[in-house]
Amino acid sequence: MSVTIGVLALQGAFAEHISALTRFSSPSTSASLKTCIHPIPVKTCSDLLRCEALIIPGGESTTMALLARLNGLLEPLRDFVKSGKPVWGTCAGAILLANGGGQELLGGVDISVERNGWGSQLESFETELHMIGIRNEDVPFRGVFIRAPLILSLTSTGGPDSEPITILSRIPLSHLPNSRIQLWTAPENGPCRRLSEDDPRLIVALRQGRKLVTTFHPELTLDDRILEYFVKNCVLDDPEEALDI
Ligand code: GLN
Repeated sequence: MSVTIGVLALQGAFAEHISALTRFSSPSTSASLKTCIHPIPVKTCSDLLRCEALIIPGGESTTMALLARLNGLLEPLRDFVKSGKPVWGTCAGAILLANGGGQELLGGVDISVERNGWGSQLESFETELHMIGIRNEDVPFRGVFIRAPLILSLTSTGGPDSEPITILSRIPLSHLPNSRIQLWTAPENGPCRRLSEDDPRLIVALRQGRKLVTTFHPELTLDDRILEYFVKNCVLDDPEEALDI
């Protein structure tokens, strides 16, 4: 059996995702899948039609949306997400998948986000994270945050049509950059507030149905455990494959 996973290749870190998919699907990998992964770059509608799953990379969400519109891909991408096929958005890709964010979006995941909510390029940072469900869950994952979006809220209606959201990773308060702690605990014109561990802004990875969102860049590390999670749980959704985790 084989599955074609597309990577939106209009702008941003698509080459890194394709390399990770190629590395992950090579026969020597420890993931030992029974299914063969076939990664393709997606630049046109006909590329998208060949895909059973899609990864939307990090980059510039506004530029990606503009290029998607110019290439006639915006509506086909929206339809792809709506169809319930597996989609993973990393950073700018996460912004595009949000249902709220004040710009042209694909939507599909019940979150609202703030672009560049972690600050400017200079405030980009790396930190160790724990993510539920990945192989060797106790071993931290290196989270690379580059002008990453903040998840401001979960907007799921909870109605029969909305799939439940599973939060997969939060930044522990103790790993928060100092600049954020200052900003968030002493907002302009307001009293100092205590941050709680369940503040939605600490969420950095979640899943809704077969859609996965990470506000950081797993493809910029050589640790393929989040890619493995996506392939086994969202794409293949096959207990036989999931047993290997
Ligand atoms: N700040 C970028 C945006 O708004 C996202 C950054 C990234 O993908 N690393 O699209």
